[in-house]
Amino acid sequence: MLTAGKYFQKRREAAALSIDDVAERIVAPGWGAVHLTANFVREIEADRIVAEDASLTRISERAFPVDRYVYRQLVAGLAVPALCRVCACSWMDACIGDAGPCAWAEPDLCTACVSRPLVTALAAPNISDLLRRPGAASRA
Ligand SMILES: [Zn+2]
Ligand SMILES: [Zn+2]
Repeated sequence: MLTAGKYFQKRREAAALSIDDVAERIVAPGWGAVHLTANFVREIEADRIVAEDASLTRISERAFPVDRYVYRQLVAGLAVPALCRVCACSWMDACIGDAGPCAWAEPDLCTACVSRPLVTALAAPNISDLLRRPGAASRA
């Protein structure tokens, strides 16, 4: 079952960011050192703490997109919109690539993830498919 922490982790991994990368981007005065911020991210992903809205907003602005509505619904154990099984994007929170926002390739797989290495590695007909990586989206 998808937990709020797992959802958060999938969104981070879809942006190709490590926990330390995220910590460096979001650390703020009053949050302590980068390694403490990294622990904070780890605790969120392990579902040991629940991220506040202010934290989720900061993470979305500075590191990777995370849909606060989806996160809150998962925390509460309530239904969520359709999510991509790989990157956990949703219609409110689509992947933005060169071709614009992603769409649904399958009921639970978005078009951006059809060409992601994690997916193609499972069923790649040849190596060139693995190399056709769109690259991590930068939201700098
Ligand atoms: Zn996806
Ligand atoms: Zn997507």
